[in-house]
Amino acid sequence: MNIIIFGPPGAGKGTQSKFIAKKYNLVQLSTGELLRKEIDNKTELGLKISTIINSGELVSDKIVSKLIEKFISNNTYKQRLIFDGYPRNIDQAVNLDKLLKDNNQNLDIVLKLSVSLETILRRILERKNQEKRKDDNEEIAIKRYKTYEKSTEPVLKYYQKSKLLNVVNGESSIMQISDEISGLIDSIKGWQ
Ligand code: ADP
Repeated sequence: MNIIIFGPPGAGKGTQSKFIAKKYNLVQLSTGELLRKEIDNKTELGLKISTIINSGELVSDKIVSKLIEKFISNNTYKQRLIFDGYPRNIDQAVNLDKLLKDNNQNLDIVLKLSVSLETILRRILERKNQEKRKDDNEEIAIKRYKTYEKSTEPVLKYYQKSKLLNVVNGESSIMQISDEISGLIDSIKGWQ
C-alpha cells in the first residue's frame, strides 16, 4: 500500500500519517521533517533550505526529489510508503510517478484533508506554542497557504484523473478523521 496524504499546511497530514503508519505498518515519508532535519544538521544546504522554508516558498524540486528517492529505492520500504508533503506541484507529481514506476511500485490511494483557512491559522498558531517551528507564524502561514493554492492544489486534478483521489473532512476530530481514513483504506480491494 502506497498512500499520498494531501492537504494545506496545518491540515493534520503529519498526525494522520503517523496514525496510518502505526495501524497498517507503513512508513511515513514527511518531506517537511526531512528538510527540518537537514536544517538541524547546520549544513550549507540546511542553511539554504531554512531561508526558503521561512519565506513560505517551496524548496527546489531537485533537493526534495533526492530525499524521497532514497526511500522509494529502498527495498525494505517497497510498497509501504505514506507520502506526507510530496508531491507539492505538478512536476513533483510527474516525478513521483516516474520514480515509482522505475522501482516497480504504484500508488493505491490519495487522501485529501479538506480544511478551511480559518481552521488552519488557528491550528498553526496553537502548534507554534508546542513545536516552535519558525515557519509557524501568521504571516508565513498565510504565505504557505497561498503557495499551496497556487502550486499544490492543481495536483489534485492530476489525481482526480486517475481516480485515486478521496476527500476527507479535515475539520472533524482527530479520531473521526482517522476512522474515516481507515474505512477508505480497508475498502481498497486486494489489500492485505
Ligand atoms: P506544512 O504542510 O504544515 O506546511 P511541512 O512540514 O509539510 O509543513 O513543510 C514545511 C515546509 O517545507 C514547506 O512550507 C516547504 O517550504 C518545504 N517543503 C516540504 N515538502 C516540500 C516539497 N515536496 N517540495 C518543496 N518544498 C517542500
